Amino acid sequence: MSVWSHRPRLLHLALLIAAYVLGCAFAKALRLAPGTNISIWLPGGLLMATLILTAPRSWPWWILAGCIGELLGQLLFFHSPLPAALLIYGGNALEAAAGAWLVNRFCGRPVRLENLQEVLLFVLLAAGVAPILSATVGSATLEWFSVKGQTFTSAWPLWWVGDATGVLIVTPLALVVFQSWRRDAELLAARWIEACVIGMIFLGVAALSLSGYLPFAYIIMPPLLWAAVRFDFKGAAVTLTLLGLITAVFTVSDADRFTGDAESQREKQIMLHLFLAISAFSALIVAVISRQHQRALETLRQSERSLRELVETLPAHIWCVAPDGKLIYFSQQFRDFVGVDVKDAEGTSRLWGFLNAIVHPDDRIAVSTVFGRSIAAGEPCNLKHRLRRFDGEFRWIETLAAPMRNSDGAITQWNVICLDIDGEVRTEEELRRARERVTRASQAASLAELSASIAHEVNQPLAAIVANSHACDRWLSAEPANLERAKITVARIIRDANAAADVVSRIRALFKPSKQSRNLTAFDGVVAEVLDLMAEESARRRVRVEAHVDSDLPPVAIDRVQIQQVLINLMRNGIEAMDATSDVKVLGLRVRRVADAIQIEVSDRGPGVEFPDKIFEPFFTTKGHGMGMGLAICRSIVEAHAGRLWEERNEPRGAKFIFALPLEAKAAAA
Ligand code: ADP
Repeated sequence: MSVWSHRPRLLHLALLIAAYVLGCAFAKALRLAPGTNISIWLPGGLLMATLILTAPRSWPWWILAGCIGELLGQLLFFHSPLPAALLIYGGNALEAAAGAWLVNRFCGRPVRLENLQEVLLFVLLAAGVAPILSATVGSATLEWFSVKGQTFTSAWPLWWVGDATGVLIVTPLALVVFQSWRRDAELLAARWIEACVIGMIFLGVAALSLSGYLPFAYIIMPPLLWAAVRFDFKGAAVTLTLLGLITAVFTVSDADRFTGDAESQREKQIMLHLFLAISAFSALIVAVISRQHQRALETLRQSERSLRELVETLPAHIWCVAPDGKLIYFSQQFRDFVGVDVKDAEGTSRLWGFLNAIVHPDDRIAVSTVFGRSIAAGEPCNLKHRLRRFDGEFRWIETLAAPMRNSDGAITQWNVICLDIDGEVRTEEELRRARERVTRASQAASLAELSASIAHEVNQPLAAIVANSHACDRWLSAEPANLERAKITVARIIRDANAAADVVSRIRALFKPSKQSRNLTAFDGVVAEVLDLMAEESARRRVRVEAHVDSDLPPVAIDRVQIQQVLINLMRNGIEAMDATSDVKVLGLRVRRVADAIQIEVSDRGPGVEFPDKIFEPFFTTKGHGMGMGLAICRSIVEAHAGRLWEERNEPRGAKFIFALPLEAKAAAA
């Protein structure tokens, strides 16, 4: 019942029968021993291919169809007795079933013959092992029925060769044709032309060599292998079919080539069969190698494509530059950003020219310094700078560059990634400005509060002084002058004036350092901390700080925090003074010993001090947001340390603020 339900379509069965009978006709044309059906047995290969391709449950049907084909073939071409024909077919069916089972078992299902290992396994099992069965049964039958005087031992090798050749020629090609003919069936015009040219050469060479004009048949190999290389299994299938047909035509039409004694006929035929077997085997091997090669190429192309897609779709601008500075690759995102392609970057196609064209003028020095250092050291680098977009707008970018090396460690190219951080930088800047505004507002508020309380505290004794002065005036102007009362009022005036002076002293004490907080301190540590504190601000404002502290300085008794406050104030003033400079911004800091003092100089390359006489006065400022207290407080701190703070012109330009602090003995005395 289950076998019945697996019956193939009748048309397919009929087609197999027809192909089987045709195969028999071909075998007759090329038979090895006259009167026997020992020959290139294509029907065996055909049946095996059919069984490999179909489900084992339908095999009985196909074997039955094969049997009908065989009996018809025997009837038409070989005229063997019916029992012998049935026995021979039994051997052939066994061969096909065993071959199909072995191939399915060891090459997997469906059989694709996609690598060399599979093909070799296939050749061994289907063309090597399976024909042993048909050769054994067939040769035994020939001897048993004494067909044309064949013995088992003389027939067996011929039978095996014939069946193996049949399997080699038909089975793999039938498999490939049925399984993958449609795949990649579209050929370009150039490929069609190539296929036709190969076909013509092949036909010509085959005809000439088989008809005896060319010295030996193997001359057919180059065009056969050419077809297999360029068109893999399809090329091999078509050329082998052509070769088989030509061979049959020549053998049939030129029968006298095989005349002579039986032995030499046999030898010639065996050579012909071997030739066909070797051609089929070679074509198969070359086809599979070519297919493997094409697959490998395709996989490589695919992985290159996906890698490129990955790079192109990453949310970053990627570009590459050769070690000699030649630009070699811009990703799509980077091309869109800068508005040029590598090819179009003519004239600026080398790194430095290109960078000069797109980096913000204020950032060029920093960029070329960092890149130059990184290239010289062969080490990765990263930095933040502005880059011009295609529309001329400068945007903040974080650039990361790293070298790519070959197996010898030599740099083959530099890979650069640029991340757009414009939003973040602007938000940070906004935040900083807001913070500054808040600080200024609270400074102003506390100043207003301080002023109010000073006014309040000083106002009371002043008002009392004014009132008492009027009273004193009255007592002295009276007739007679009341000296007693006048004296009392003068005493009150003195008391109130002292009270006012006290208020002022208390306020001054706020800015005075207490001597307890002074310690003997090494100056290099003080400077290092200040540089650290100012590093972020100076970097942000693109100012290079050049600090030099003499190494053999003696320690000084100072209030560390207050002296640092002075340094920070002077440095910040210098940095602010260079804000508008488009030139290189350098802030100098020099600490050295001069006689019995430590002298600290802070120099800048700004426009210089406009009002040198006024800058140390409290509340004097030329800045919109300034409070004018910085230098006043600095001077009072320095003076509290028994030192001196003054201003000079810096050479070639800018301002230089200098303060000198006396060494320990004098400071302690102070
Ligand atoms: P503020 O910084 O609030 O203005 P300062 O006491 O620090 O108060 O400075 C007072 C003034 O001195 C500044 O407004 C500026 O005009 C001038 N000044 C200070 N330092 C420098 C400098 N390095 N270069 C030019 N002018 C300076």
